[in-house]
This record gives sequence, C-alpha cells and structure tokens, in this order.
Amino acid sequence: MCGIVGYIGDNNALDIGIKGLRRLEYRGYDSAGLAIHNGNSVDCIKSVGKVDDLAQKIKDKDLKGNSIILHSRWATHGGVVEKNAHPHTDCKGNIFIVHNGIVENYKEIRAKLTSLGHKFVSETDSEVISHLIEHFYEGNLEEAVIKALKYIKGTYGLVVMSKDNPDRIVAARMFSPLVISVNEHGGFVASDPSAIISHSKRMIFLEDGEVAVIKKDDFIITDLESRVKDKQETELDWDIEEAQKGGYPHFMIKEIMEQSESVANSMRGRLIIEEGISKLGGIDSVKDKLKEIKKINILACGTSYYAGLIGEYLMEELAGIPTEVDFASEFRYRKFPTVADEAYLFISQSGETADSLAALKEIKKREALALGIVNVVGASIARETDAGVYNHAGPEIGVASTKAFTSQVVVLALMALFLGRQRNLSLADGKNIANDIAKLPILIQETLKNIKDIELLAKKYSGASNFLFVGRKYSYPVAMEGALKLKEISYIHSEGYSSGEMKHGPIALIDENFPTFAICPKDSVYEKTLSNIQEIKARNGKVIAITTMGNEEIKSLVDDVIYIPEVNEVLSPILSVIPVQVFAYYMAVSFGYNPDMPRNLAKSVTVE
Ligand code: GLU
Repeated sequence: MCGIVGYIGDNNALDIGIKGLRRLEYRGYDSAGLAIHNGNSVDCIKSVGKVDDLAQKIKDKDLKGNSIILHSRWATHGGVVEKNAHPHTDCKGNIFIVHNGIVENYKEIRAKLTSLGHKFVSETDSEVISHLIEHFYEGNLEEAVIKALKYIKGTYGLVVMSKDNPDRIVAARMFSPLVISVNEHGGFVASDPSAIISHSKRMIFLEDGEVAVIKKDDFIITDLESRVKDKQETELDWDIEEAQKGGYPHFMIKEIMEQSESVANSMRGRLIIEEGISKLGGIDSVKDKLKEIKKINILACGTSYYAGLIGEYLMEELAGIPTEVDFASEFRYRKFPTVADEAYLFISQSGETADSLAALKEIKKREALALGIVNVVGASIARETDAGVYNHAGPEIGVASTKAFTSQVVVLALMALFLGRQRNLSLADGKNIANDIAKLPILIQETLKNIKDIELLAKKYSGASNFLFVGRKYSYPVAMEGALKLKEISYIHSEGYSSGEMKHGPIALIDENFPTFAICPKDSVYEKTLSNIQEIKARNGKVIAITTMGNEEIKSLVDDVIYIPEVNEVLSPILSVIPVQVFAYYMAVSFGYNPDMPRNLAKSVTVE
C-alpha cells in the first residue's frame, strides 16, 4: 500500500534512498522515515508529512552510511503521528523494519511479547514485527526474520536492517509487492520499480513467501523453509513515469486492474466462513448498539453515494434493517426527522468530503450513532464518527473512483452480513454469503479478461454523443455509476436510469444514435430488464448488454454483449461495474483525454 526503498553498497546511500522515496511520493503518503547504517551504528529519523519534510529534518544532520531503509507510510493502524511512522525498532535498537501491509494478528502478538517484557512505542500493527524478530534473534538475522514471519498472519512487503549485521538487508514478501536488483552499483530493494529503475532496469520480482538476503554485490532468495530459489531477472523497458503506473499508461486503468487485489485487501482477515460472519474490528466497540439499530441512513456523495445505494439493498436484504440513502449535500438542508435507534453511515474514499463532513457535524448534534466507511486512515470522517471500517483499498490516484467503489461495496456487504447475523440471517445463509464474498477476487480477475473486447467496443461507439445506462435492483446503482464514469472522464452526456423508469421519460430519447448500456446479469429481475431492452430495440436503439456468462439467448436481441462470471446477485455490482469503468476509460483515451485528470474535477471535494 505504501512505499519502501532499501539500498546497500558503496555509493551515497542517503542520496539514493531519498531520491527513491521521492519517486514513490506521487501516491501522496502521510509520513516518512529512514534508518541508515554507518557500519557501527544506525540513525533512525521520521517525520509526519511529505518526503520533503523528512529531507528538511535531516538537512543539517551529518548522516552517512552504506545501507539504508526508507518508508513512506499510508496508515492502516494507528494515527498519522511521528511515533507511528516507520522504521520501527526493537527494545535494544538493533532491528529496524519498514513494512507495507497489515499484520492481522498483531494484537495477540503484541500481548504475548508485552508479557515477555517487550516495550512498544507505537500504535501500529507493524511494530510487532521488529520485536518478534528480536525475540528470535540469536545472531543470524535472516533466520530470525523467517521464524518471525511464521507467526505473522496478514500481508507484508518487509525490509529489515540490523545494527549487528551491517553487510546485509533482508526483504520478504506476502501479498505486498517488492522488487530487488543487485548490480555493480550495489543492492536495491523497493516496493515499486519506479523507486530504483534509474539504477537498474533488470529486476527480480519477489513472490509471496520469498525472503531475500541482499548484500552490496550478492543476494540469495529462499522460501520460508530456507530452501534456495532460483529466480530470473526481468528487464523492464519502462521510464520512471511508466514505472509509477506499473507499466500502464494511466493510474485509472492501473487501479481498475488492481481491483482483484484491492477487494482481497478489503476483506482480508474479516470473514469467518465457517461461522458465516464477518469480523470488523472497527465496529466491534459499538456492536451492542448496532444490535438495537432500527434504521440506517447512508450519507455520501458521487461514486460513494452509488455504493451507498447498493448498501441500502444489502442492508435491507441481508439484515432486514430499513435503510435510506441521501446525498450528504441534500441531507444538510433537509428537515430530517430523527427516529429512535438510528445509525448514520458516511461513505467517503478520502474521508474529507466537505458535504459529508458537514452532514456528520449535523448528526453529532443528535443522539445517533455515526459510522464511517473511509479509505484514508485517520481522515476527518474516520476521526469524527463513533466507529467505522476502513476500506484498505490502498491509495487511489485517478480522479474517477474505481477500486474505492468496489471496495466500498465489499465493506458494505461485510457490514450487512455482520448486522444480518446479529439478527435473523441464518447460519446457512451467512455461510453462503461469506463464501460468495471470498470468491470475489478470482471472479474479478475473470471479469478483467474481457478488457480488449471492451476497448474495441469503446472504439465502435466513440461516435455517440449520448448514452443511457439502465439496470434494475442491484444493477440500478451500477447504471448510474456507469453514466457518471462516462461523463466525468470522456465528457459524453450519459444518464443512468432504473430500467423500470425508462418508459416514464427517457425512452423518448432513444433512436439509432442514442445507445444504451443494459446491466442485466441473470438475477431475480433479469426477465424484467429483458423486456425493457426489447422496448429499446423496438425504437431502433442500440444496446450493449452486460450479462452473465453462458447467457447465449441475449445475443440475438442486443447489438453487443459483455459477459461477467456468475455471482450471487447481492454482490453482482462488484463485477458488473468493471466493464463500465473500462468502457469509460477507453472512451476517454480514444478522444485523447487524460482520464486521470478530468477537466473541472478534483479527487477529493473539500469545498461545499
Ligand atoms: N500497517 C502499517 C501501518 O499502519 C503499514 C501501512 C502501510 O502499508 O503503509 O503503519
């Protein structure tokens, strides 16, 4: 999620490290830090803010060394304060670690190590790693790292330095990327090739469960059983900008392609399939209150509002709780009667959306429970709500939200499952839903295999000046999100409508030049949507259908079909939204627009 750089060699380690960290700064992290080894001792400096703030802090210090590890943090556990910035160290100041990812079982490990006398200084999950390595350290750093990793559940891109071992740094990966390169300039490691690509284009991508011992002129990679792995180098033909985008031309498409991973991160450690429940640490403190909730009001803006609409269906269907969704900007000025035992749920990627924050302030004047679903840890909405769940989708840079949306829907599904199981949702139904949620990352990968066909479709329809998106039930919010994506980055007028409402107005627009996207997976309302498609066809409208794999009959009815894998209807938006994201992206690209920076828009809307 965040940035890691490490170097060992005869060149200026500080300079290489800071430059590398700056290359990762485009993602906008919250704090940064480094540990530098001069052969005898290690200096560890941290700072809240940008890499520049760290650079300012070390400006007058005479830091020299031959090895360095650096980190830019994107907080997941613990606020954005200096003590939580990485590197983290052990009790003796011997082990220093930088960590990307989440240690799911950090509470248990921390409790155990505390009982053994370890002293923790941060609120992070990551700090347990340095103490656990200390616990196992008997002179061999890599052995201690491997022993420690066996106790860790969760995700890591990890780089470790030790005062006692100035000749090496140790790196390990589990679900969080790391690349290494050892060449005539020394040994490099980074979470993202862009940080080190100016020193070498030949890199080794670590795989999950691999550990690398990196020296200035040598390296060895093993698995967690210390068996040596034979790894091939990959030659990356990327410049720095391409490397920052993972080889993709824009962040938006990179983030679309990342959704299998981001959705996996959103649910990681949060599903207990055998019990048919979800475990959401962030709302645990209010679980008794949640049991009594009689109504949920979801407040959000833009794409998050559409996620909220899906949330409404989920809450009502899985938990039987009446749910209402409103734009935060509207809610603020409405006379909104309070009812007893209600909760307000705020959804915001940045957690700083001005209208949502203002609505939250209104709510705080009432006796109601305020909850949040926020992607950026420590953001205002996360701080000011009573409890909430972080998306853990990683930073989203493209202005048009993609991976944040799918992760919001996953979190809503997890919440609905939690609330449902507190009420009448049976164990069997809970298990089914939990199982279906767990399959999503694989199904997203399958959905993304269509991307080339969708690119061709975007070319085919690039002459259209208007688009209609229709869908029913769970696909209705997807229709609106599809229309929003298309208009915000390709500037094509598009409307999202409920299929059933079409005949009350929008159908008047339809002719051969006004194409329609019909979101119609084979679900409980499929036949109904099919009738609406027929109504469009009868008026010579072109139709692109997004439907379930294996649905052959629809081919004879519509002009083009995009298939998504079969999935539980309540989760279908997470798959059906992907083709409309991809379509909007390629449409914008076909006009030569930069989808990452659409005109007139900002990533986080911090004004009313
Ligand atoms: N979980 C760690 C923290 O909150 C690392 C977060 C990251 O990946 O930057 O400090």
